Amino acid sequence: MKYRIKYILLFLMVLFVTCNLEKKVDEPTIQSDPVFPRGEILDSDNFSGSVWLHMMGAQDSTLHARFGNVSFEPGARTNWHSHPGGQVLFITEGQGYYQAKGQPAQILRKGDHVEIPPNVVHWHGAGPETGFAHIAISLNTDEGGAVWLGPVTDEEYDGLDE
Ligand code: MN
Repeated sequence: MKYRIKYILLFLMVLFVTCNLEKKVDEPTIQSDPVFPRGEILDSDNFSGSVWLHMMGAQDSTLHARFGNVSFEPGARTNWHSHPGGQVLFITEGQGYYQAKGQPAQILRKGDHVEIPPNVVHWHGAGPETGFAHIAISLNTDEGGAVWLGPVTDEEYDGLDE
């Protein structure tokens, strides 16, 4: 009888752990309700970790801008990259970073925004313990799309201040 209870408890523990693991894969751990839809999980070599993208707007040839909501799991981030026409980020959730190559990383919180000049090599993404979301507006897109470079290494990322 004692053993049976042990097995039942063990089974429940395994079930609990499994359910939580699945939950982690399915949805970002950002606490608050998102302002904009999270969209679909990104399947791209240009990002590390789990990132969701919801593109918005008509993307016509008049405004020369593309805008989307990007949500990052803790630790998730873009690769190093640049935008030929520049980019603006509006932080809508959590805490994360923006870093231009050769500069210290900047901590970003909900309500902050960043103006990224054309062709400045940079990355943006979540803090190690915090989910993060921003509206990304790529400007002057007739100048061309993002130029993607290598990943932000763990060495580069782990050395950042919280
Ligand atoms: Mn960017």
